[in-house]
Amino acid sequence: MPTVAYVGLGANLGDPRQTLIQAFAELALIPGVLQCTPSRLYGSIPVDAVGPQFVNAVARLTTHLSPLELLDALQGIEDRHGRLRPHRNAPRTLDLDLLLYDAVQTETPSLTIPHPRMHLRAFVLKPLAELAPGLALRQGRVEDLLGQCAEQEVWPLV
Ligand code: AMP
Repeated sequence: MPTVAYVGLGANLGDPRQTLIQAFAELALIPGVLQCTPSRLYGSIPVDAVGPQFVNAVARLTTHLSPLELLDALQGIEDRHGRLRPHRNAPRTLDLDLLLYDAVQTETPSLTIPHPRMHLRAFVLKPLAELAPGLALRQGRVEDLLGQCAEQEVWPLV
């Protein structure tokens, strides 16, 4: 049985919209990914990060890959987009986070799922609520969590 996983996408260097559209296509082409459903693109003000405004989105994947295999594939896509990591929270050409992998909970040096900060970030919760209305995270329903970070500016891009 394939698993449903959610991936958060963000970029704030180069041409972020184009980068995310390209990244959706690359996610769909990962061997072992059966389906990739993209959210709309959203603009956001950097949270815990510096530099220009971000473009964010979420993708729902159905996949036969394990969580670590999927993370490895995500890091391969980041690397192909020239992702540099000069310091934590540096501006980035493309950031891909594995947000959720079915109901799996794991905490290892290389992978924590659910993503430990996703419930605090409107730029994740808004596109996630679009793809999965009513989704229950450990901390509450996605819409309720979104209400708790209403001060974070996130807007749909046309
Ligand atoms: P970042 O530089 O913010 O993209 O963080 C990447 C690092 O976080 C990598 O070393 C990953 O192994 C680690 N990591 C831990 N949990 C996750 C997750 N759920 N999604 C993506 N990266 C993760």
